[in-house]
Amino acid sequence: MNQMQFYSLNNQSPKVSFKEAVVRGIAPDRGLYFPEKITPLPDDFFENITALSEHKIAFKAVKQFVGDTLSDLELQQIIKEVLDFNLPLVSIDTNLAALELFHGPTMAFKDVGARFMARCLGSFSKNENKKITVLVATSGDTGGAVANGFLGVSGVEVVILYPSGKVSEIQEKQLTTLGQNISALEVNGTFDDCQRMVKTAFVDADLQNQMQLTSANSINIARWLPQMFYFLFAYKQIQHLNKKVVFAVPSGNFGNICAGMMAQKLGMPVHHFIAATNCNDTVPQFMKHGTYTPKPSKATISNAMDVGDPSNFIRIRELYGNDFDRLSEQLTSYSFSDVATKSALKSLYENNGYVADPHGAVGYLGLKKYQQQYPDTYGIFLETAHPVKFLDTVEEVIGEKLEIPIQIQKILPLQKVSKKISSYEDLKSYLLKK
Ligand SMILES: *Cc1c(COP(=O)(O)O)cnc(C)c1O
Repeated sequence: MNQMQFYSLNNQSPKVSFKEAVVRGIAPDRGLYFPEKITPLPDDFFENITALSEHKIAFKAVKQFVGDTLSDLELQQIIKEVLDFNLPLVSIDTNLAALELFHGPTMAFKDVGARFMARCLGSFSKNENKKITVLVATSGDTGGAVANGFLGVSGVEVVILYPSGKVSEIQEKQLTTLGQNISALEVNGTFDDCQRMVKTAFVDADLQNQMQLTSANSINIARWLPQMFYFLFAYKQIQHLNKKVVFAVPSGNFGNICAGMMAQKLGMPVHHFIAATNCNDTVPQFMKHGTYTPKPSKATISNAMDVGDPSNFIRIRELYGNDFDRLSEQLTSYSFSDVATKSALKSLYENNGYVADPHGAVGYLGLKKYQQQYPDTYGIFLETAHPVKFLDTVEEVIGEKLEIPIQIQKILPLQKVSKKISSYEDLKSYLLKK
């Protein structure tokens, strides 16, 4: 098969293979990598999707992007290890369901992407003598999922940056208690500050000379692309309904929804996408006025989406040839306040007996708003985190105690280990000493 090439969205860097794009994370010109070509899967793939196993669907969806940088056997093995938990579609109401993505080891939807990437990197670094350092900024859930996914992968060191005091206690435990090849840096600042430091490190010549750095944020194609699986698995479950399918995705860096749009490019019949955000409304504003104005992020109760300059949105624009009108036909974006999010949590619990988390609740709000106008659609909102990860908010709103799952109980008594930093210089000297 032909080797799939990835180009930089800044267009100033050479094209690279899947392997090189994964190892680099971001192109030398600081652009995000994007596949040169997206070949739709055959029609009968979607017509007969119910007959295919999840593993088979995943393999077919991602194979063209991986090319032959991994053998079929290696890719099948990776998929099997990554997808070893359920992603159930839970019916909430007529024409409305929640796709629960939080049954993995850290109870975050990012488990799939993080574990897929970890295994790809592990495989690529097998024949190299240079250690790879994964540098990742997290607004909450990425850190835990990445830390867990990479724990014990030989040849790979992981350094996680997170904003001090802005992640939940459980999230902090998940990224500061593992040890081994995982270290956590506690940044005196916001998530945007963390992300900026990481981006700066990638273009710092001193660091480039000393070490092989890569990212594990959704800018990395091995984190981003496997998120297509969720949408395909959901489609498999509702294809027989023969309805117009709408996905509402609670969005922060817009990697997940962009992967859904990739699944659509592969030929999956989707009527519309809804990007639901908290008050960090850069994209809703863009979809309204056509101008993209990044802003500093604001703290909310759905903190994994506190992003003022979503890094993957540029990929979404590229998917639609940077044509605003074409994009508007496929994508609607709404922003919701914390007050609205809490009342959605409450209403889901009281009227539907469903306990959501604040991120899922934002997705639900987006879907409800869209369906007021388009009631003939079948709506799926993505439930991206287990509600216990946002224990204080959820218990306060629903007025009940939640049961703590075993994955979380295990880490609560562990001691947090982190190093505090305040500037890029702190980060750099830390990395150089490693
Ligand atoms: C990361 C995250 C999101 C946002 O996903 P993006 O791909 O960054 O848009 C939503 N919910 C939860 C719980 C997350 O951890």
